[in-house]
Amino acid sequence: MKFETVIGLEIHAQLKTESKIFCGCSTTFGAPPNTQTCPICLGMPGVLPVLNKKVVKFAIKMGLATDSVVNRFNTFARKNYFYPDLPKGYQTSQFDLPIIGPGVVEVEVDGEKKLIGITRMHMEEDAGKLIHDEVEPVSYVDLNRTGTPLLEIVSEPDMRSPGEAYSYLKKIHSILRYLDICDGNMQEGSFRCDANISLRPVGQEKLGIRTELKNMNSFRNVQNALEYEVRRQRDILLDGGNVVQETLLWNPDKNCTESMRGKEDAHDYRYFPCPDLVPIEISQEWIEEIRASLPELPDQRKARFVEQYGLPEYDSAILTGDRELADFFETAASRGAPAKKVSNWMMTELLRELKGDAIRNSKVTPDHLGELLLMVDKGTISGKIAKTVFIDMMESGKGPQEIVKNKNLLQVSDEGELLALVKEIVAANPGQAEEFKGGREKLMGYFVGQLMQKTKGKANPKLANELFAKELKG
Ligand code: ADP
Ligand code: MG
Ligand code: ZN
Repeated sequence: MKFETVIGLEIHAQLKTESKIFCGCSTTFGAPPNTQTCPICLGMPGVLPVLNKKVVKFAIKMGLATDSVVNRFNTFARKNYFYPDLPKGYQTSQFDLPIIGPGVVEVEVDGEKKLIGITRMHMEEDAGKLIHDEVEPVSYVDLNRTGTPLLEIVSEPDMRSPGEAYSYLKKIHSILRYLDICDGNMQEGSFRCDANISLRPVGQEKLGIRTELKNMNSFRNVQNALEYEVRRQRDILLDGGNVVQETLLWNPDKNCTESMRGKEDAHDYRYFPCPDLVPIEISQEWIEEIRASLPELPDQRKARFVEQYGLPEYDSAILTGDRELADFFETAASRGAPAKKVSNWMMTELLRELKGDAIRNSKVTPDHLGELLLMVDKGTISGKIAKTVFIDMMESGKGPQEIVKNKNLLQVSDEGELLALVKEIVAANPGQAEEFKGGREKLMGYFVGQLMQKTKGKANPKLANELFAKELKG
């Protein structure tokens, strides 16, 4: 029997506000435990929440950027459950009247474009953090994160492969980063994803029984966990068994999913309207004001890169997928080296040397990369030397001019100087010279190689070829 994979993602984006969603406490990451709390986010009796306007604004931005409906009337609801990281005993969230939805984003997988539906986006507060591993068998509670604003983005079950889920996740991440409303750090948990996945026989319309995967703190892990789960569910179904609806945790060390708990349904949470927060009414003027302030988004920027810099679609997609990468490119290219050369260097040399680190941690600045490539373009240094200069830049953070000067790497383009060496080499290799004259032109590589050895790679290769040709053919 053949199965079709069905995936829907729930993404939690921590919004980049200075203060929490319902109180004035700071949202800064990494403060000593429980120092960023107050009676409101601690859930003391008798306190009243006040909504942070910026959270609403950020949600509207994300809605507009994904062609979603902005619900001008929306409300908060309480989602009730008990857990030690949730002092109020309920999470203030949105339920039947969320701020955003429905909408759509376009993703591209293996050159094919596809639309993925967004069901809804809602504003809610984050819970605190439990710390289990410092002193056994004690657990600590840190409530600094309690009340940090989140935007939950729920997709339709529109993805048909782990690869599509990966592309969708990247796209949402990229849009959030362009809008500058979420820092997108998966390791620190400011961008989290739960993946729902089921299989169904090809041709069947009814969705199969799903599992929900959690604890994937990188894009790669999301894809790996989904691929594992496709295999696991397929084996169960082929054996004639039933998939159990449950929440599974991805174990990145063992590369498998492990059962965490049975999965609740919405009615288990006894959602009810929050009596402490009045309904939110958004004016059309405010929406239009926000729409007018939206920055250029990834798809637009990608089209512009093709148009303005003449880059291939492939390069443009990679460079504009990340806002910082795209900014880096534009600054580097503005120094005057050919855009395609800048793109090539970024996608090979730079990304390789960064080894997965963020571009903002690169010791090579965009200005320095641009300068380096301009030096190659002008023939000041050879492309080969540029690679060694680049490694040096990556380690020392110094500029290319300084390195080239200190290490004496300027390309030798002085005809007199090179001609003397060319004559020496020809005189020292009479056999090869005869063969060359007899028609073995492949030997040119040998001669130029000799010259490169003598000049430590600094001879201008074009001039070297010309001089040998003249010298040998007369
Ligand atoms: P919950 O209340 O458990 O969060 P939702 O109905 O809100 O469930 O769905 C959560 C996510 O799971 C959505 O992204 C949705 O598209 C996806 N989903 C729902 N049913 C299935 C299914 N059978 N297979 C795969 N994904 C599903
Ligand atoms: Mg859910
Ligand atoms: Zn507080």
